[in-house]
Amino acid sequence: MGSDCLFCRIVAGEIPATIVRETDTTLAFRDIGPKAPVHVLVITKEHYADVATLGQGDPKLAGELLATAAAVAEDEGLLGDGYRLMFNTGAYGGQEVFHVHAHLLGGAPLGPMLARDVA
Ligand code: 5GP
Ligand code: ZN
Repeated sequence: MGSDCLFCRIVAGEIPATIVRETDTTLAFRDIGPKAPVHVLVITKEHYADVATLGQGDPKLAGELLATAAAVAEDEGLLGDGYRLMFNTGAYGGQEVFHVHAHLLGGAPLGPMLARDVA
């Protein structure tokens, strides 16, 4: 993917980000528009468009992303009170950046799962 993808550019160091954890295969950095006291994005360094293509294409790497998210949650002191891990996927999911990323949200009660009931 590369230069067309915002998060590939963060991986490449072309766009600055506040990185909180890095492994050989994953990167975690603070969201530029935080929606909670802790709002970290956890991505794979390799480009996958979304969690579905990652999960089916490389389940081991998907597990590494989850392990990085768990380590960040621990570092950020979220294990006691809990947190939310979220993958927006596609148009209805509200995905805006098409490089797989987990939103790790915490540090305050997060309220209902959805802003409004759409059932
Ligand atoms: P999505 O809507 O795709 O699930 O989430 C994309 C997220 O990326 C948003 O929460 C947005 O604030 C964040 N974001 C967009 N551009 C940047 C950026 O340049 N740097 C960082 N750190 N986060 C970004
Ligand atoms: Zn990318």
